[in-house]
Amino acid sequence: MSNSSDRIRQNVESVRGRIAAAARRSGRAEGSVELVAVTKKWPAELVRPLIAAGVLDLGENYPQELWRKVESLAELEEPVRWHLIGHLQTNKARRTMPLVRMIHAVDSLKLLQLLDTLAREESNPPSICLQVNTSGEESKHGWSADKILEDADAIAACRSIPIAGLMTIAGWGTDAETARSSFIQLRQTRDALRQRTGLPLSALSMGMSSDFEAAIEEGATLVRVGSALFEGVEA
Ligand SMILES: *Cc1c(COP(=O)(O)O)cnc(C)c1O
Repeated sequence: MSNSSDRIRQNVESVRGRIAAAARRSGRAEGSVELVAVTKKWPAELVRPLIAAGVLDLGENYPQELWRKVESLAELEEPVRWHLIGHLQTNKARRTMPLVRMIHAVDSLKLLQLLDTLAREESNPPSICLQVNTSGEESKHGWSADKILEDADAIAACRSIPIAGLMTIAGWGTDAETARSSFIQLRQTRDALRQRTGLPLSALSMGMSSDFEAAIEEGATLVRVGSALFEGVEA
């Protein structure tokens, strides 16, 4: 385990260095990009070294796995902030909301409107990102870039849940340069939706282990990195 801890610490340093370098290359402040460490499938003992290395924003894909991890790490003193980065079924929304800082993959108007209603009962509701399917893959959730603009008025009418910005998954197994066109599309869609709604939409949640540097160069404010942080570590 201590070998794993050392390795994770090195990986954190390396990923942070790459984030900083990509920010510098694109003339952005280093602090303008937040690292969300994706801990899905890794046990709580291997999440602790990440937290010890100062990574306090943690992302999970599945609500039930998130609930379990929140519980098993609840005794920590560090102020960990959880992010749900995967699909949220409507029947799991009420239980998930108070546990997380951000819900990244709000993928339908129906879910958005439900969260908006639930947010009225929350003293401190999480913020959300709207998921856009920029790769056109059928298996991906989210609005198409055209459809989200058609829904602009309905989106702007949701005033209780803080809509931070947009999120996308570039595509599994695509190289960074193919991914870049997804990231550019997300940024342009954000600019258009901002104009239609008047919402600031300052967050762009985009970039994973294989493509986060390209995402930062195209304006990512949140990168969701999993495997690069656990490289060389055995489950
Ligand atoms: C798993 C996952 C990530 C992290 O992917 P890695 O390639 O392991 O960095 C990011 N975002 C989403 C939505 C994921 O499901």
